[in-house]
Amino acid sequence: MSTDSSPTDPSSLDCDEALERLFEYLDGELNEDVEKAIEQHLAACARCEPKFEHERVFLQFIAKRAHLEQAPPELRKRLLRELMDAERRRSNE
Ligand SMILES: [Zn+2]
Repeated sequence: MSTDSSPTDPSSLDCDEALERLFEYLDGELNEDVEKAIEQHLAACARCEPKFEHERVFLQFIAKRAHLEQAPPELRKRLLRELMDAERRRSNE
């Protein structure tokens, strides 16, 4: 029995393919098969997982930020700072 660690499963993606689909994945635009393949890749790949996590947090941040556009500048600045602190705290957990 050899312990060959090369990815042989044809349904699994390599890192380039996974990262290429990162934003589509985060937007939920992929079909279930591709989505599953990416989730499998992320579960197995220590290199891509943090990148996806980082982008996900970033997109959430942008989405929250969009709400702040209507707020007055002073309030916006303060909320923005609180938001960034919250994100930082979360990523440290
Ligand atoms: Zn990878």
